[in-house]
Amino acid sequence: MGSQRENPSDNEAQAPVASHAGAQPASPPALQAASQSAASIAPIPRRKLGHEVQERLLAEIRSGHFPVGSLLPSERELMARMGVGRPAVREGLQALERMGLISIVHGEGARVQPLSADSVISQISASAVHLLSGDRQLLEQLKDARLAFEVAMARTAAMRASDEDIATLRAALDAHRASLGDPVRFLETDLALHKTIAVVSGNPVYVAVSQALLHWLQNFYEDLVRAPGAEAVTVVEHGRIVECIARQDPDGAERAVREHLTRANQRYHSGAIESTPRASDSGDAGHEPAALS
Ligand SMILES: [Zn+2]
Repeated sequence: MGSQRENPSDNEAQAPVASHAGAQPASPPALQAASQSAASIAPIPRRKLGHEVQERLLAEIRSGHFPVGSLLPSERELMARMGVGRPAVREGLQALERMGLISIVHGEGARVQPLSADSVISQISASAVHLLSGDRQLLEQLKDARLAFEVAMARTAAMRASDEDIATLRAALDAHRASLGDPVRFLETDLALHKTIAVVSGNPVYVAVSQALLHWLQNFYEDLVRAPGAEAVTVVEHGRIVECIARQDPDGAERAVREHLTRANQRYHSGAIESTPRASDSGDAGHEPAALS
């Protein structure tokens, strides 16, 4: 890239809008035909320049030409190499920043960031929330997908957990148990335990997808009036899952996850999406986010 400047006349004001074809009705037919056949390599319309910059830089990042941690060329250099104006370069860089691929530090430049599951998920989630709100059926499909993932992760975790993994899982369970009576903390430790199981499964795709599913499901979460004993039941269920993994018992782990999620899934209702917020935002002592997951 950067070897061609398809628009050498460009300056700060961006490339000219593609207004060539048919713009001069008085041209001789031969000239018109030539101008139309050249349309495919015509200047990129202004509104697409930023996107084009983004695509090209993306390709360079993907190819490893700009590895994680490296600085991209300066705005000025990118302008010169791509033959576009500053607005297009900024637009492209900002789009990459929104994707979580680079960070732009004033005075330093744009640096390539490691891509994390979290940054990918936060990308997906905004549009997913929108998508979900329009389709009630999706709630059931999400629950099913989450169950399938959690089962697969627990089974895999049971087959491959090391002593260290088991110690980590037990520590997560202890933290969870210790948060009984503190609804916000209880929810956090619940989610953390599930994430630990995902991590122990050893597959980062499981981690990313299960976190995304959970994120989307939270849009449906409905606060329930405190159900006495629900927290204790949740802790017992989580304990069963952890112990099955520790015993290297995939079938037992699957059963425990199914029982746990079949009960917990009842906490998600399609009506909840308009009503609001996530349980953890409520802070209301009369409500309890006990069995989100
Ligand atoms: Zn749970």
